[in-house]
Amino acid sequence: MAPIPASTRVRYERVHQMRGGLAAVAIVKGACGGCYRGQPPQVLQEARKRDRVIICEGCGRLLIWPPETP
Ligand SMILES: [Zn+2]
Repeated sequence: MAPIPASTRVRYERVHQMRGGLAAVAIVKGACGGCYRGQPPQVLQEARKRDRVIICEGCGRLLIWPPETP
């Protein structure tokens, strides 16, 4: 069995985590897709990098940068 690259594993674990109970919403036009609270630029930047989990301060849900957005 070939070793799974760390990046793939992290992505998988993150998806698994999301399905594990915490609600996740996509970021829509710079705002939370759940409560529509506008997110600060640095939060959007972090979300775009996808290297950490972002939590909306408005509703407490996980913020996911939409995959189709460059
Ligand atoms: Zn929210």
